[in-house]
Amino acid sequence: MLPKERVITALLGKEVDRIPVTAVCQTVTVEQMRAINIFWPSGHKNPEEMAKLAEAAYRVTGLETAKIPFDQTIEAEAMGCKIHLSERIEEIPHVKSTPYTSVEEIEIPDDLLERGRIPVLLEAVKILKKEVGDKLPVIGTVVAPFTLSTLLMGIIEYYKAMRMNPDKAKSFSQIATEICIILGNALVDAGVDIVKIEDMGASTDVISPKLFEEFAKGPLVEVFKKIPGIKVLHICGDVNPIISAVMETGTTGISIDQKTDIKTAKKILKDKTTIIGNIDPVKILWEGPVDKIKEESIKAIETGVDLLAPGCSIAPLTPNKHIEAMVEVAKTYKR
Ligand SMILES: [Zn+2]
Repeated sequence: MLPKERVITALLGKEVDRIPVTAVCQTVTVEQMRAINIFWPSGHKNPEEMAKLAEAAYRVTGLETAKIPFDQTIEAEAMGCKIHLSERIEEIPHVKSTPYTSVEEIEIPDDLLERGRIPVLLEAVKILKKEVGDKLPVIGTVVAPFTLSTLLMGIIEYYKAMRMNPDKAKSFSQIATEICIILGNALVDAGVDIVKIEDMGASTDVISPKLFEEFAKGPLVEVFKKIPGIKVLHICGDVNPIISAVMETGTTGISIDQKTDIKTAKKILKDKTTIIGNIDPVKILWEGPVDKIKEESIKAIETGVDLLAPGCSIAPLTPNKHIEAMVEVAKTYKR
């Protein structure tokens, strides 16, 4: 099987020749950048460079993925937020400031898809499709409505709105929902194989299951209904307290980190939703050593992940040989 077929088949819960080893969150490392001589921040702004950096995860370390973008600020930037695109090559962009201070003053511009770096992202998808589309799964990410609301309004302001003015907070996140649907469909039209929806702000580390149910779940259900094709949801932290809600979104796969107990998740998800994960990206994958990475990778496979992957974004300073150790386990593991 080629990596693309292997990843998609496993995501759909069907039989594969061996477990895929992939990444659906950030994949770029400094060593990969040096290997292909393309660097951030330019790789965030130039479609050819973005495509080459996405491919590097496979070409340099063997991860079966071509995933873009590398940051979570593209939607916020297109909506007028100021973004910090650091000149330091190991730093991931973040939102510096936002024009929105209340739940009322937001409108989606007609030319949303022409704003900021959205054209760069969509062009990079087309390049990947042409260059590696037969071989690698092209994965495009959108930020989920709840998380996007906290980026657009600022976490503290949005939390305040949830408490003081829940209806307004919900109507704000309805706008974020529409943005998410517009970008998700544009990614599908540009040719992605998998749309990944990222709700790092809706983690149970940050909000209670009750708030998740009230503010994050409804918009997610709508997004999953209105973006066609294969989808993967990523939520950081322990997903088990909200796992029934996750299933109700209808996601094809759930990407989870080391805080989620795989056996418990598996029991609830059965074969309805596949599991991608869950190697600790910092304490294991970045810090190593190689033997520990191999041990944890075997453990993840044996406890039931369907696709072996880092639990969250790969830290840019992660050594290639650490990622290669995880890849090697997937390639050599015999059930
Ligand atoms: Zn995460």
